[in-house]
Amino acid sequence: MPDIDHYIGGRIVAGTGERRADVFNPATGEVSGRVALANKADVAAAVEAASAALPGWAATPPVVRARVMFKFKYLVEAHADELVRLISAEHGKVQSDARGELTRGLEVVEFACGIPHLQKGEFSENVGTNVDSFSMRQPVGVCAGITPFNFPAMVPMWMFPIALACGNSFILKPSERDPSTALRLAELLTEAGLPPGVFNVVNGDKEAVDALLTDPRVDAISFVGSTPIAEYIYRTGTEHGKRVQALGGAKNHMVVMPDADLSQATDALMGAAYGSAGERCMAVSVAVAVGGVGDALMERLEPKVRALKIGPGNDPEAEMGPLVTRQHRDKVRGYVDQGVKEGAKLVVDGRDLKLQGYENGFYIGGCLFDDVTTDMTIYKEEIFGPVLAVVRVPEFDQAVAMINEHEYGNGTAIFTRDGDAARTFANRIKVGMVGINVPIPVPMAFHSFGGWKRSLFGDHAVHGMEGVHFYTRLKTVTSRWPTGIRAGAEFTMPVMK
Ligand code: NAD
Repeated sequence: MPDIDHYIGGRIVAGTGERRADVFNPATGEVSGRVALANKADVAAAVEAASAALPGWAATPPVVRARVMFKFKYLVEAHADELVRLISAEHGKVQSDARGELTRGLEVVEFACGIPHLQKGEFSENVGTNVDSFSMRQPVGVCAGITPFNFPAMVPMWMFPIALACGNSFILKPSERDPSTALRLAELLTEAGLPPGVFNVVNGDKEAVDALLTDPRVDAISFVGSTPIAEYIYRTGTEHGKRVQALGGAKNHMVVMPDADLSQATDALMGAAYGSAGERCMAVSVAVAVGGVGDALMERLEPKVRALKIGPGNDPEAEMGPLVTRQHRDKVRGYVDQGVKEGAKLVVDGRDLKLQGYENGFYIGGCLFDDVTTDMTIYKEEIFGPVLAVVRVPEFDQAVAMINEHEYGNGTAIFTRDGDAARTFANRIKVGMVGINVPIPVPMAFHSFGGWKRSLFGDHAVHGMEGVHFYTRLKTVTSRWPTGIRAGAEFTMPVMK
């Protein structure tokens, strides 16, 4: 059984922690490795390495840091097949989807290659007579990233390419469910020329996270995961004086207007609700059918959900793989049971799916509910599985109101042919990322990703210029050379003269 260890100071290390956790192949249900769970001393070793490497890396010219990113991009592309297999084997998602997440991660690396331009400051000549002002963006210091299981490559790559390009050192604490991809990325960074200690991986659970949150040498924390943990990370990290961005869970609604192209809307819903078995923070889990479009929508959805091709991640025909763990599969089943109990109409029931040859895999079939109401648990809570709830409302205004009242505000979409409805929706909706005839509106790397309400704690979204701002501190210098200094002391607030 392979051991999955840490990556500290430019090499794989076993650490001193005695605890380990099983990592599964969700397609077969078998244990595929044993991941080390870092103790406080292991985290301290990573922080030590990151602190020691920081001054040299921060002083490295941005063009040189960018060249490491260019080389890293080339290496990730060259090893893409291997990385895709690694993601799929531990997460369970189909390989075509794993390739998609790797590509979206690489786009952030491409963005980070432009760091000499992105990190440029501003200059104003003569802000007062013979006085100039300029600003610079300097690295924050030692940064840590704590990431979820559902995108083992993309979510870490939302963070570290920009953090490193800005001159910070970084400690990644990946999900203990699928830790291997992070270690491979660490090796490729070293091969790309990143000095030892600038990027480190500590595997672990709450013990490792708490050590990072409380270590005074860690300056900033980026977190992506579920809302209760995001809130805990934000509170604890800020209490310890750190800069924190913490992205949480979601319940994304897609509004289908009566004038929408229904076959387009149905296909969009299929991919957005069932792709990656619904384990995406931008998955659509609620379809809001407006003004009598519900029957026609259900008629189209039902046969497609029944026909979903489910199989192991390495089956090129499969559209959806298993869930990540047995416990998570059972939790999703429990939500479906609860939906039935609370009176929603279960039109397609995937709870008892068994795949021949993969009887011990963590599979569940696509589930489709009709007549869901906003007081039901399956409407209020994030299920994070292949379960779509259809809610029917008579008017557009009710669709907007229910989305605005929901505790989460990550993503949303509207399908319509009416430009005015689309524009009003984008203007009034209290959600961070909005799609107009686009079901999963994940912003590109040069824009920024982040939700509203209880989907994000902190002031900065991730990547794009928000990422550059999160991973840098602004410093503004006001300078005057000899003339004028001899005028004597001034005791009033300086104003432009
Ligand atoms: P999770 O919150 O269970 O775990 C996320 C990370 O936190 C992991 O590294 C885990 O080890 C750590 N962690 C777990 N419990 C902890 C605790 N008690 N104390 C300290 N650290 C702890 O999330 P998950 O199940 O891995 O991922 C799924 C969740 O992530 C979903 O809620 C999904 O919506 C969310 N997510 C959000 C986004 C976004 O951008 N908003 C993106 C991807 C995933």
